[in-house]
Amino acid sequence: MSEIPQHTGPWFHRFLIRLFGVLLALLCFWLVEFIVNDIGRQPGPNYSLLEEQMLDPALIQSKEELAEQIKDTKQAINNLRMRQKLLRDSTDNSQRTMNQLLEFQRLRLEKNQALSPEEQAALADSQRLFLANQKDYQSLNERISELTEQLATLEADQRELEKELAEARRPLQEEYNRLWRRHKWYVAGMKLAVLIPLLSVTMILFLKLRSSVYAVIAYALGTAVVIRVGLVMHEYFPADFFKYILIGACLLVVLRVLFYLIGMLAKPQREWLLKQYREAYETFTCPACTFPIRRGPMKFVYWNRRSAKRLTSNQLASSETYDEPYTCPACATRVYEKCEKCDSTRPSMLPACPNCGVVKPLNC
Ligand SMILES: [Zn+2]
Ligand SMILES: [Zn+2]
Repeated sequence: MSEIPQHTGPWFHRFLIRLFGVLLALLCFWLVEFIVNDIGRQPGPNYSLLEEQMLDPALIQSKEELAEQIKDTKQAINNLRMRQKLLRDSTDNSQRTMNQLLEFQRLRLEKNQALSPEEQAALADSQRLFLANQKDYQSLNERISELTEQLATLEADQRELEKELAEARRPLQEEYNRLWRRHKWYVAGMKLAVLIPLLSVTMILFLKLRSSVYAVIAYALGTAVVIRVGLVMHEYFPADFFKYILIGACLLVVLRVLFYLIGMLAKPQREWLLKQYREAYETFTCPACTFPIRRGPMKFVYWNRRSAKRLTSNQLASSETYDEPYTCPACATRVYEKCEKCDSTRPSMLPACPNCGVVKPLNC
């Protein structure tokens, strides 16, 4: 029975098989992605820990102290400015009062009158307050300029310290980079340690299932795992290196397909051959050399594979009823022969006898 082509099933069934094959490939792809991501989640080197180990703690401490001092100084300057503002408001106020009282006094003097003792006291008070405020304002100004100078010195110190720190951090950064590279290779190695056995198993499965009815599964698994391995390699190997791997893989695939196509011409596969024979019998041409099969009433008709469709049904019917063994006169291929079982005439190059159904091996 192995010579009979396998049942391909109705189209909807075939469609479902392909759809589920694609689903299987997607699910496998995700599953492998989850595994790979979980491996990749291992913590890398810790920069702050490294800093604690490798950097002079005195440097860090003085940096922190300096930052604290700068912050305090800025705060102090701000506070003084705030006080100055309040003072200015109060000065403005006392100045206004004083001016009003002086204006009052001038008017009184024009009328030869003097200010009352309370008014004189108020004028003296506001004058005193105004002068005292002025003095305070001045001293605040001095304090602010002192602090500003101090701040400039602190900031210069800070810049100096930053330079020193950057210098001290250079070997630290190098060490961190080295640890990071090592971590990256370690993770890549772990991923490949999982992926390569997986790839091998998939390849073995692929080779075993490829030509069976379960080929869809083989293709789904193979595609998912190969693409995932490719992505991991792309992530970890330098782009230049990966370029060669990629082009190498593409070359292999193209060569494989070419060999397959050329091999099919040289040593045709059964399915392919059967298709070719079937088409030849359909158009009444020799399966080996495409010369028209001229039997019975069609002996003097001319046609070829393309014009066979235009043969009249009359001509076709008469050729079907003509039932004798036939050999192609052009290439000497046996085209119709006597069936070994039922003795009727049957196509020699198709698997089954149309009369009794006996199956014989295809002569490839
Ligand atoms: Zn022929
Ligand atoms: Zn037969």
